[in-house]
Amino acid sequence: MNAFEKIQGDLLNHPKKWLVTGCAGFIGSNLLECLLKLNQTVVGLDNLSTGHQHNMDEVRDLVSDVQWRRFTFIHGDICDRNACKEAATHVEHVLHQAALGSVPRSISDPIATNDSNVSGFLNILVASRDAGVNSFVFAASSSTYGDHPGLPKVEQIIGRPMSPYAVSKYVNELYADVFTRCYGLKTTGLRYFNVFGKRQDPDGAYAAVIPKWINAMLQNKSVIVNGDGSTSRDFCYVANAVEANLLATFNQNGQASEIYNVAVSDATTLNQLFDYLKSILKANGIAFNQNPVYAAFRDGDIRHSQADVAKAVRELGYSSAHRIYDGLEATIPWYLARSGRKILASEMEDYFLSAE
Ligand code: NAD
Repeated sequence: MNAFEKIQGDLLNHPKKWLVTGCAGFIGSNLLECLLKLNQTVVGLDNLSTGHQHNMDEVRDLVSDVQWRRFTFIHGDICDRNACKEAATHVEHVLHQAALGSVPRSISDPIATNDSNVSGFLNILVASRDAGVNSFVFAASSSTYGDHPGLPKVEQIIGRPMSPYAVSKYVNELYADVFTRCYGLKTTGLRYFNVFGKRQDPDGAYAAVIPKWINAMLQNKSVIVNGDGSTSRDFCYVANAVEANLLATFNQNGQASEIYNVAVSDATTLNQLFDYLKSILKANGIAFNQNPVYAAFRDGDIRHSQADVAKAVRELGYSSAHRIYDGLEATIPWYLARSGRKILASEMEDYFLSAE
């Protein structure tokens, strides 16, 4: 039995009360699904700015009525201290995901990013401290590596931030560390690297590359590659991120304030990603015959990003079990179903241990 399986077994036997901020978003709704399937009690806080009611509706359809009744949704903003206080009351474990994502969004509107990602973060941190929670795990970001050229990325070596978003995520780490020192709050930052999976929003100006490309391919529209396609990323299937959150919550090995990379330690180029998507769509009966359209490199984009996940493996027992291809195979049926295409029910696999 690995560390994640052990934690899931323990949680089934001894359910806890959790706060998941950003529960209507992509990663937050996957956390919500996992926790409810493990019979946990969950409070969710989300202002539905980039998240959606339909993500929570989908979770409701994937859990039993009894499990769903253990969920309380607060439609509120982390910039509102009272909403944070209400959400954190009697909570044992916090998984803080709410933030305004996207580097380009932060470059066009740094104040909005700072409001949610820095002031909102501080509000949740204070509310968690005041509520006396046992653990506070938060979504940090690989953007914190900034302009440091070293590969693979190791937690203790970072460069200068390259965007307001990166600043905000680094400030989160600093605040969390200070709250551990000043108030004894156990905090863990998970530096996610390009997470993907079901319920990641394919729409809008700030959509991430994987949902955006799948969406384009399903509509037989051009796939735009920024640069020559050699740009590489350590794409991380969302089930890995869910695992890391639960492992970090019950981590006994590290210090009271820790940072971990969450990815797979793979480097996949955009050209490889395009080929993978094409071949998985083909296996699902969808032929995409266009070549990618190459555009200019995007300003501020780093060329290569790859995580060293040894620290998470060593200290958390993180398995990084899901590689990119498997993750894409599990993800694409969701987008197919969403686009109204008929798929075999057997292809809609359950990504997490079901507690039912
Ligand atoms: P998402 O946009 O799908 O989810 C974020 C959720 O937070 C949304 O539901 C949104 O409505 C909510 N939210 C935003 N501002 C809020 C506010 N002020 N008050 C209350 N709710 C608010 O994004 P995601 O991809 O699920 O990202 C989750 C977290 O992970 C974020 O903190 C993001 O910065 C971080 N992250 C994500 C990735 C990735 O690849 N997806 C990589 C690194 C870090």
